[in-house]
Amino acid sequence: MRISVPKETKNNEFRVALTPAGVHELVERGHEVIVQHDAGTGSAVSDADFKDAGAQILDDPAEVWGAAELLLKVKEPIESEYGFLRPDLTLFTYLHLAASRPCTDALLAGGTTAIAYETVRTADGRLPLLAPMSEVAGRLAPQAGAYHLMANHGGRGVLMGGVPGTPGADVVVLGAGVAGANATAIAVGMGAQVTVLDIDVDKLRALDDRYAGRVRTRYSTTLAVREAVENADLVIGAVLVPGAKAPTLVPNELVARMRSGAVLVDVAIDQGGCFADSRPTTHAEPTYAVHDTVFYCVANMPGAVPHTSTRALTNATLPYVLRLADHGWRDALAADPALAGGLNAHAGELYSAEVADAHGLPY
Ligand code: NAD
Repeated sequence: MRISVPKETKNNEFRVALTPAGVHELVERGHEVIVQHDAGTGSAVSDADFKDAGAQILDDPAEVWGAAELLLKVKEPIESEYGFLRPDLTLFTYLHLAASRPCTDALLAGGTTAIAYETVRTADGRLPLLAPMSEVAGRLAPQAGAYHLMANHGGRGVLMGGVPGTPGADVVVLGAGVAGANATAIAVGMGAQVTVLDIDVDKLRALDDRYAGRVRTRYSTTLAVREAVENADLVIGAVLVPGAKAPTLVPNELVARMRSGAVLVDVAIDQGGCFADSRPTTHAEPTYAVHDTVFYCVANMPGAVPHTSTRALTNATLPYVLRLADHGWRDALAADPALAGGLNAHAGELYSAEVADAHGLPY
């Protein structure tokens, strides 16, 4: 099979969907791999590294897309790439379609077979291709929050860990899943006072066991969210209903009551965000003001740490890439219900109830 890897086009996106080790595996199995010139540079992988592993390097994105039977990306196609979508192409990437009607329409119009990393789901409910990036984004969230809490960056001027005699920041984490648990670990490590809310008591139980009283846990209701968020210095939104638009937990009226200079980091922005006023931002301009607070809503947070993220992502995706390449998408999905959960669109039709619901489209 011919497999292409274009250079990512999203703002400040330095990840790449395959490493030279992945190229080597594919070429060894008799596949042909085409990588766009400079695709790996941001992740410290050179064209020569890819070439040595057996890839062909092409410069023109139209040629890279045009050559592919299977195209591997990190982020969803953006407008300049919509023209490359076609029926005889299988696209394997993060899509987050519930948050983007234009991308959904483009994939349907193109008739492309679109398999989303984030909806590949194992029988026990794990999301193996979302997890590594949720680990990264979760660990980055307190770091981004701490930076923007500094007065010179528009924040309240609170030090995450405080100092003896002065308490650290009051940090609220909404969602105790992969991103939320990782955000909690770093916020606790920085010395903050952390409260975590979730509707899954087992997730709260696990954190309670792990931190033995060092972290407060609360069952997530409208009232509990309001009480926790109102007094927070930093709120980290990390909730998920798989495949669907994120639930809105923090309305505008609640933000109006928050402390001046409080920071809200919406990790769930890639699924539409869990604060009413969230809108996607970029690493170039990550924040904006809502009332007196600072909103940080970068939809590709892991793109800022490509060394870590590219390796973490490709470790998780490679086994699925090999199956798609070896067997073709139909047989690969038929043999693996987890991978089948990734199918979002094919031949102009949607295969995700959550995406159809989000846009009022037939399914
Ligand atoms: P997860 O499924 O592991 O955890 C989500 C948690 O949210 C679950 O524990 C669930 O019970 C909880 N939840 C659902 N509804 C809730 C509610 N009303 N109140 C409280 N908790 C609720 O998901 P994850 O892998 O941690 O991903 C979290 C979000 O982070 C997703 O939207 C994901 O796409 C996003 N993400 C964003 C970036 C980025 O760069 N911005 C990167 C990676 C992941």
